[in-house]
Amino acid sequence: MSDLTHLALPHIAKLHAYTPGLQPTEPGWVKLNTNECPYPPSPRVAEALVREIGAGAEAGAALRLYPNPKSAPLRATIARLHARENAALTEAHVCVGNGSDDILNLLVRAFCTQSAAAGLTFPSYSLYPVLVGIQDGRTLEIAFGRDLRLPVEQIAASPARAFFLTSPNAPTGVAFANADLERVLATYRGLFVVDEAYAPFARENAVPLLAKYPNLVVVRTLSKAYALAGIRVGYALAHPEVIGLLDRVRDSYNVNRLSQAAAVAALEDEAYYAGVIARVVATRDRSAAEFAARGWFTYPTQSNFIFTEPKNARGESGPAVAKAAYDFLCRHKVLVRHFPSHALTAPFLRLSVGTDAEMRVLSETFDRWLKTPSA
Ligand code: PMP
Repeated sequence: MSDLTHLALPHIAKLHAYTPGLQPTEPGWVKLNTNECPYPPSPRVAEALVREIGAGAEAGAALRLYPNPKSAPLRATIARLHARENAALTEAHVCVGNGSDDILNLLVRAFCTQSAAAGLTFPSYSLYPVLVGIQDGRTLEIAFGRDLRLPVEQIAASPARAFFLTSPNAPTGVAFANADLERVLATYRGLFVVDEAYAPFARENAVPLLAKYPNLVVVRTLSKAYALAGIRVGYALAHPEVIGLLDRVRDSYNVNRLSQAAAVAALEDEAYYAGVIARVVATRDRSAAEFAARGWFTYPTQSNFIFTEPKNARGESGPAVAKAAYDFLCRHKVLVRHFPSHALTAPFLRLSVGTDAEMRVLSETFDRWLKTPSA
């Protein structure tokens, strides 16, 4: 450890950063590793960006000015959209972030430390423990069994100050029913954060529960269903008191002008995104059925990815088989995700749903792998 690292706070000096999925820079990859949308965003997004930047001699002039500090027009758009699912929702129930990662960070910053533990399930989104580590906080983990049933009683009895649940879960794609979330909320007194990054692909979501449970927070992103991972917008829906706390710890200008304009335009084009989501869901269901037909155990997914346990030509599965399949795909420029560090995830691969053509390449590459002598 160098002298400079010694100057840092001890918990920061020993911190391991979150490892994002690879973003290859050279062309030619079939990229199915970070659950991005395979289709472009609404054409209205580019129009809004051009409008925001301006043209001619005035081009870029608006960028001199700071953005709306609270992303107020965007909060209003989000509230209007969700008021259909829950009439009680207003702008006061919305906080916008620089991606939902920003929102998760604000939640951890405001609610979690050594004496106020963060509850997590395993597996789930691996950023949560990193955010808690940055705070020098403490995590309490509840492990899923292989059936991935929600451990309702354990969560309900958790002493965690805030509990982070990903639904649909990452990286498994399995969603939890509102009935189960309500069984947790009936007893749990901490802040119950349901990270719904993938909810637009699911049959049900927790937004209608917000009116009934003031300790529920729903987190959403525009990175997946809205095809805007590059624009970095996410948001929290919660009781106004919780939103007020997040606003206290938020950077005053946490969402830039261009992102605010792009997000409003995207959210307003509901018809376009209904089409995008329907295509992704149709491809997902076809593709998941194909993996199941191969005899590969595949969790029922309600997200935009598939978690499947590959079998080699001899019908074997396990961490080494998943790794071999991953490596073969990688050598053939098909990028997926393998989580080797835990027994529950190591025998599986997570495959983001791409276009039909991309999923065909994926399937054909698996076929080639099965024909190699080493598979
Ligand atoms: N939550 C979950 C469960 C995710 O998988 C991701 C994406 N990796 C995020 C949040 C973060 O999304 P964003 O791009 O909005 O920061």
